[in-house]
Amino acid sequence: MKKDECIFCKIAAGEIPSACVYEDDDFKAILDISPASKGHVIIIPKNHADNIFDLTKDEAAKVFVIAANIGKILMNELNCDGLNVLQNNGAAAGQTVFHFHMHLIPRFENDKVKI
Ligand code: 5GP
Ligand code: ZN
Repeated sequence: MKKDECIFCKIAAGEIPSACVYEDDDFKAILDISPASKGHVIIIPKNHADNIFDLTKDEAAKVFVIAANIGKILMNELNCDGLNVLQNNGAAAGQTVFHFHMHLIPRFENDKVKI
């Protein structure tokens, strides 16, 4: 995919507005526009990667550190009972935006969230 056609590249560059909860030189974390549960966050690398197979080793390692850090804050602030950390690769696996992203989905007992 060309970078200038990628919605998450535009969000990462600040060309499209988003509810940003974390940003550093390499990643941006935003609230999902269609949340599976309250506080659903997606973490996006600033460099375009179609999926997990395109990430650098550094990006792959760092995204889990960021996921754990934001995840702890979500657990504390929302007082949720659990957290799904997941990401999809390929349309057959449910990927709809073809720029790598990791989902953080806060979970509550008996919330009946479908993921
Ligand atoms: P996927 O199905 O590819 O794993 O997840 C894509 C996610 O991106 C979905 O949860 C969807 O709601 C979210 N999403 C798609 N477009 C936008 C957008 O423009 N802004 C935000 N914040 N989230 C988006
Ligand atoms: Zn992109």
